[in-house]
Amino acid sequence: MTDTLDFKLTKTAHSRLQETDFDNLPFGRTFSDHMFVADYADGEWKNFEILPYGPIAMSPAISALHYGQAFFEGIKAYKHADGTVSIFRPEKNAIRFNKSAERLCMPTLPEDIFIQSIAAVVDLDREWIPTKANHALYIRPFMFATDPYLGVTPSATYKFVVILGPVGPYFSKALRVKIETHYTRAAEGGMGYAKAAGNYGASMLPGRKAAEEGFDQLIWTDAKEHAYIEEMGAANAMFLLDGTLITAEAKDTILDGVTRDTVIALAKEWGIPVEERKVSVAEIIEGAKSGKLTDAFGAGTAATIAPVGSFSYNGEEYFLSDPKTRAFSNRVFDTLDAIKYGRTADTHGWNYIV
Ligand code: PMP
Repeated sequence: MTDTLDFKLTKTAHSRLQETDFDNLPFGRTFSDHMFVADYADGEWKNFEILPYGPIAMSPAISALHYGQAFFEGIKAYKHADGTVSIFRPEKNAIRFNKSAERLCMPTLPEDIFIQSIAAVVDLDREWIPTKANHALYIRPFMFATDPYLGVTPSATYKFVVILGPVGPYFSKALRVKIETHYTRAAEGGMGYAKAAGNYGASMLPGRKAAEEGFDQLIWTDAKEHAYIEEMGAANAMFLLDGTLITAEAKDTILDGVTRDTVIALAKEWGIPVEERKVSVAEIIEGAKSGKLTDAFGAGTAATIAPVGSFSYNGEEYFLSDPKTRAFSNRVFDTLDAIKYGRTADTHGWNYIV
């Protein structure tokens, strides 16, 4: 699959595979042996290269560090029982990658180069893909501005890098979440729909404050009124209310999640009504009180489904059913799990085979 992308290959002289503890994989701490790197200069992408994972030398003046011309993607590769390796829907990430690039005044990357570069490094490091249940190889493609000048102007040079690391399950329990009514993740006209590094930097203080109050996650609300639910942490917030799957429509304040799109596709196939629209905090509270809110979860690559155990709004906590009993989200999780690990036929063409 990678035969059309020409790249220089320098293999590591010392693989770290044998010294890696695959029973202890906190998210984002362990990286595979190799990385993919490319440069953008003179209006084109060049210097495609796979080399041992390691530091990248750079000027202290690069504009990524000063003005945040930087963004990333998050994707997972899975190993099937027969050894097949698949990447889940990377073409969706390729499209979103370029939406982020455009918003940040950065160069786009042809979708086939994005996918082939990822496939090439995953292929080389396929021994790093864990085989245990709920484990995968996390793929982190990213781009950053490398002009060594302090002027507040779009850089003329960039680096595209892909790093990989084995990961286990992200959340192990139902989450206690806080509906945020002070801080804002994204405003209309802003860059919420981009996977801009700055969006995540800005979320850390509100996240830490919520953690200090005993919460696992934040539910972000709209910037104007804090009355409508937008996202949950770094995942899309989805609800089953009175039998209908509801979630915020993918507009400029919402990250258009691959998992969100996948959950919506499955729901439609299963004959479950889907509404992509404004979701008010009031109707979610009402649903929790009446029992009509039968499912609430974050949908994202990291966790697939992160069930909400309870949510708090202005100091009042609302408890939901035991996640084990939730028909919809468990069916979604099991269905996707079976597809990703190759236990059922991939009738949607969601698995990109490496
Ligand atoms: N929203 C935000 C803010 C995110 O960072 C993510 C993770 N990429 C998501 C939603 C979920 O997107 P995906 O399903 O593509 O991982």
